[in-house]
Amino acid sequence: MASADEWRQTACILCECNCGLEVQLGGPGGGHIEKIRGDRAHPASQGYACEKAHRIDHYQNGPDRVTAPLRRRGDGTFEEIDWETAIREVAAGLMRVRDAAGPETIFYFGGGGQGNHLPGGYAAGTMRALGAVYRSNALAQEKTGEFWVNGRMLGAPVRGDFEHAEVALFVGKNPYQSHGMPRARVTLKEIARDPARTLIVIDPRRSETAELADIHLQVKPGRDAWLLAALVGVLVQEDLLAHPWLAEHATGTAEIAAAFRAIPVARYCEIAGVAEDLVRRTARRLAAATSVAVAEDLGIQMNRHSTLNSYLEKLVWMLTGNFGKPGAQYVPAMLVNLTSSAPDGVAGAKPARTSPVVGARIISGLVPCNVIPDEILTEHPKRYRAMVVESGNPAHSLADSRRMREALGALELLVVIDVAMTETARLAHYVLPAPSQYEKYEATFFNFDFPANAFHLRRPLFPAPPGTLPEAEIHARLVEALGFVTEADLAPLRAAASEGRAAFAQAFFAALAANPKLERVLPIVLYRTLGPTLAGGAAAAAPLWGICQLFALHHGDSLRRAGYTGENPGEQLFDAILANPSGVVFAVDEYDASWRRVRTPEGKLQLVIPELLAELAALGLDEPPASAEFPLVLSAGERRSWTANTIFRDPRWRKKDADGALRVSAADALRLGLRDGGRARLTTKRGSVETVVEVSAMMQPGHVSLPNGLGCTYPDEAGRLRRPGVPPNELTASEDRDAIAGTPWHKHVAARLEAIE
Ligand code: SF4
Repeated sequence: MASADEWRQTACILCECNCGLEVQLGGPGGGHIEKIRGDRAHPASQGYACEKAHRIDHYQNGPDRVTAPLRRRGDGTFEEIDWETAIREVAAGLMRVRDAAGPETIFYFGGGGQGNHLPGGYAAGTMRALGAVYRSNALAQEKTGEFWVNGRMLGAPVRGDFEHAEVALFVGKNPYQSHGMPRARVTLKEIARDPARTLIVIDPRRSETAELADIHLQVKPGRDAWLLAALVGVLVQEDLLAHPWLAEHATGTAEIAAAFRAIPVARYCEIAGVAEDLVRRTARRLAAATSVAVAEDLGIQMNRHSTLNSYLEKLVWMLTGNFGKPGAQYVPAMLVNLTSSAPDGVAGAKPARTSPVVGARIISGLVPCNVIPDEILTEHPKRYRAMVVESGNPAHSLADSRRMREALGALELLVVIDVAMTETARLAHYVLPAPSQYEKYEATFFNFDFPANAFHLRRPLFPAPPGTLPEAEIHARLVEALGFVTEADLAPLRAAASEGRAAFAQAFFAALAANPKLERVLPIVLYRTLGPTLAGGAAAAAPLWGICQLFALHHGDSLRRAGYTGENPGEQLFDAILANPSGVVFAVDEYDASWRRVRTPEGKLQLVIPELLAELAALGLDEPPASAEFPLVLSAGERRSWTANTIFRDPRWRKKDADGALRVSAADALRLGLRDGGRARLTTKRGSVETVVEVSAMMQPGHVSLPNGLGCTYPDEAGRLRRPGVPPNELTASEDRDAIAGTPWHKHVAARLEAIE
């Protein structure tokens, strides 16, 4: 156990930045995180951390941990069972469904959240051992529209270099609260302070980032497509395009110019609710800048026309020549690409797939979250009949909670692997408890930085409670119970591993050649064979060995520039990852490396996406019709200082805004007879809830906003289940989704509001 004043390195797990932290442990039994500070040695965050990190002990010591495998009884209550029984029965149940209805009827959801991606690799092994082919996770209700656009336009994921950008443009994004880039607040303030740089924000709210901005385009909620189309229209119509650059680097410029020459800029600005003059000034500033970095986020991605919005956002920086140079867009070197944005028709791209019942487009391997109930609640022979949910909580976090609960309840088998008794776990047939993210080796593959990119393998701070098993062990036992790997497969590799890494590598590749089925469960093979030889109990990190070898193969230059110049740089990187508790830089790039990662047939940016140009043409000249019954637009899931993702289940972490108030404009409050701190009834076509009201200068008339992360159940001191705040998905509907990506319209839910006396 660490001494009380020893600082130990770990990371915050509350958003994709995973800022490095140093912590001191203490409290009863040394089981608490007592002191927290940013870790200056962390290569990405460099000592930065926002206020949320200081509350992570509420996650570690949350009140509803599961510490023994649970089996649901016929009456809906749970009984504890031993691990042997749990693994045997879960494996038997999955095989029963597979054999009766086919492996494609087993569906996997989750695989990691903001701080834990290692389990996803292990789970992929279990699913491949079963032959299961359909999966999803939260990315498929947020990011898949953008992934699809990236795939079509450049065949690679793309990010913005805000640290060096002359102009920063945020579209439907409030990085002051949602972060999404290292040291977000520091970078925003640097841009805002510098008179030579310009911060531009497109957001219907006067967000914290909009407050800092030089230009705030306060669009009407849900009208981003008109605004972005007008912005691109001005670029084209005022001939502000980077013509020589486009001639060299892009295809389809003439077709795009023809499409946007027809855009009625003045009318579109009117529909968007933004002054035409401001839109024109913004376009000119973007075109004149030496570099523009752009980021979009949930404000447009979970909104009407979400995939079209992503397309228009990318046209802004492509048409102004902002790719592959300092301060512009780049393609990072990644250890693991979570997005697989491969364009159609490119070598290595998988053929397009659809979901078995609804025929929804599968993007980056993910079934749209909003169609999951439709894939279950049907008599279709290929409906999902069994589901494994891991580090995910679809009963709370996906649209239309009522329908999702009905769907989960209709499954023949629901297995949940999680730390806490979530809303989804309460519906499961089996709950398999995992250690918290601070009780095991853990990491994420949210490594998107450039020109230097970093990876952090976190070490456990606490021993795991007896009765839990790390996901690596759970999946290894499941795959063994399925009979997919045997001791005869593993023993020679284990023997080779005991002789050293070189002997292991030789035996490993020979075993794969002789027995190709092992490839399907590679993480588990590595965990069982190389894993036990890793010092400090780091067995679960064994798959990183294979990942490092592959990275060396595909990104040797980036690795060498990062200092891995030995005979076997992949091994060197793996050792460095194991040895550095604050993380390591694994890639250093030159700016033109981004061009080499563009995977379109000609190696150029493809400006034309016919499906989205058709949607653009259909936007029309009329205001979208208003509803008399539901005249307000509700944004569900606003990021605030006191909101976080739903792994933070203990509401006591919030010092303020305990109920997650509904933000309402002063004009609406006056009109509806609402007062700050008063209560109101919020109703949508799917549900009705009571909420506390906050009259906020952030909101424009007609627009109301609920925070994310509220409405989780937790047991109070007396063991009674409480649910503070509004669970937003009691109000959303699964059919309200984007036509291309299936992403939900959480930021555009038609609603009405009435004061409660
Ligand atoms: S919530 Fe704050 S401290 Fe935590 S990872 Fe995100 S930016 Fe860093």
